[in-house]
Amino acid sequence: MPYDEALERFEPVLGLETHVELGTASKMFCGCPTAFGAAPNTQVCPVCLALPGSLPTANAQAIESTIKIGLALNCSIASWCRFARKNYFYPDMPKNYQISQYDEPLCFDGHLDIEVEGRTIRVGIERVHLEEDTGKSTHVGGATGRIHGADHSIVDYNRAGIPLVEIVTKPIEGTDRMAPEVAKAYVTELRELVRALGVSDVRMEEGSMRSDVNVSLMPRGSAEWGTRTETKNVNSLRSVERAVRFEIERQAAVLADGGRIVQETRHFHEDTGATTSGRSKEEAQDYRYFPEPDLVPIAPAAEWVESLRAELPELPSVRRKRLQNEWGVSDLDMAAMHNIDAIGLVEATIAAGAPPADARKWWMGELARRANESGTALADLPITPDQVARVTAMVAGGALNDKLARQVLEGVLAGEGTPDDVVSARGLQIVNDEGELSSIIDQVILDNADAADKVRSGKVAAAGALVGGVMKASRGKADAGRARQLILEKLGVTE
Ligand SMILES: [Zn+2]
Repeated sequence: MPYDEALERFEPVLGLETHVELGTASKMFCGCPTAFGAAPNTQVCPVCLALPGSLPTANAQAIESTIKIGLALNCSIASWCRFARKNYFYPDMPKNYQISQYDEPLCFDGHLDIEVEGRTIRVGIERVHLEEDTGKSTHVGGATGRIHGADHSIVDYNRAGIPLVEIVTKPIEGTDRMAPEVAKAYVTELRELVRALGVSDVRMEEGSMRSDVNVSLMPRGSAEWGTRTETKNVNSLRSVERAVRFEIERQAAVLADGGRIVQETRHFHEDTGATTSGRSKEEAQDYRYFPEPDLVPIAPAAEWVESLRAELPELPSVRRKRLQNEWGVSDLDMAAMHNIDAIGLVEATIAAGAPPADARKWWMGELARRANESGTALADLPITPDQVARVTAMVAGGALNDKLARQVLEGVLAGEGTPDDVVSARGLQIVNDEGELSSIIDQVILDNADAADKVRSGKVAAAGALVGGVMKASRGKADAGRARQLILEKLGVTE
């Protein structure tokens, strides 16, 4: 069903469960390293392979990082809580249970404020708990990379036991047609917050942050929530938005046809933007949770929690407000920068010496356009804030005009080296040589006698055509302002 029609008939309720792999040096319950990309099954030991007789020990750094996330999300911190065993079979989970937390999460009852289209929306945080990641299965031989259609699977346990924080929102109601944007803005803000805390690299493309997106619909005017689906492991911000939109349209069509929504997990497909049915969703009792007998309870001392609170860095929303004031930009401009993740780049460019307005102009103009054209994130463009600052300095110093600066940026993006390399290789300096400029102007005046006469007779506006001729003859390298001055001088006109 088209999105607008779906929204006329139904109201969406959202929920997000986000997993963040912590950036600790060792795993959650053993001393194995956690580096990404090592050869398969080289970062394992008896504990994370669950060999008989091995015993886990909790990673204190992971507990500290989780408490920091909880504090930054305005949560209460449990004074006493336990790990629990979540029992289920998965080939990539050697224990046949996952050590997680169940009814006693480490952090609970918080909130995160996000901004969407100028509105502040408070997203309630149900809980933040600590658990361990599973290994990774690779299904070989099928077209989709999923187990369906594969002829065999291989398992890498390097990831098994990496500390994982799960952040669960309360149901998010009242978002209406902004639901997809709200979901995306929440995950964006959460990612920035966790990054600012320095507890994870939150790389969605490497899977160190991934969100499960819950969506249900209720008919307009109804007070009763519909059945929700859970789209698993959505691993980009844009996909979060698309998954919500797709589920709203899909569920609306099913409900409008008199069908019912099945509680199930679903897979999101990056290529089509569609979700497809996964498995029917287990209930908590299916997991036979019980307190983990091999680990002592966690009882963080109140003084320790307060010292962690005191250590929290400036949080992203506070930082944005501060930078907005420093740069003197509007809410709208700030939101535009935030939307394409440009704030850090602009800040670094300013730190490298560019005036705020120039730093913003290049990142939000030419570079944003190029990122958009090539379908990459702004931060992934092969140009650094230092290089952008160098280009702005060359413009400010009169060595380049905007047109040439764009060509320099183009050269840097094409891998032709630093801005200075591009300028010398492509010969892009403005014509500063007065003699050369003067002879170009003489030629242009000869070639455009009519325009020159008009200027001589006092129609100064006609000088524009001559300046245009000079820019054309110099292939854009003349300083237009200086050329205009010289033209007027040569024609004996003063302004
Ligand atoms: Zn291990």
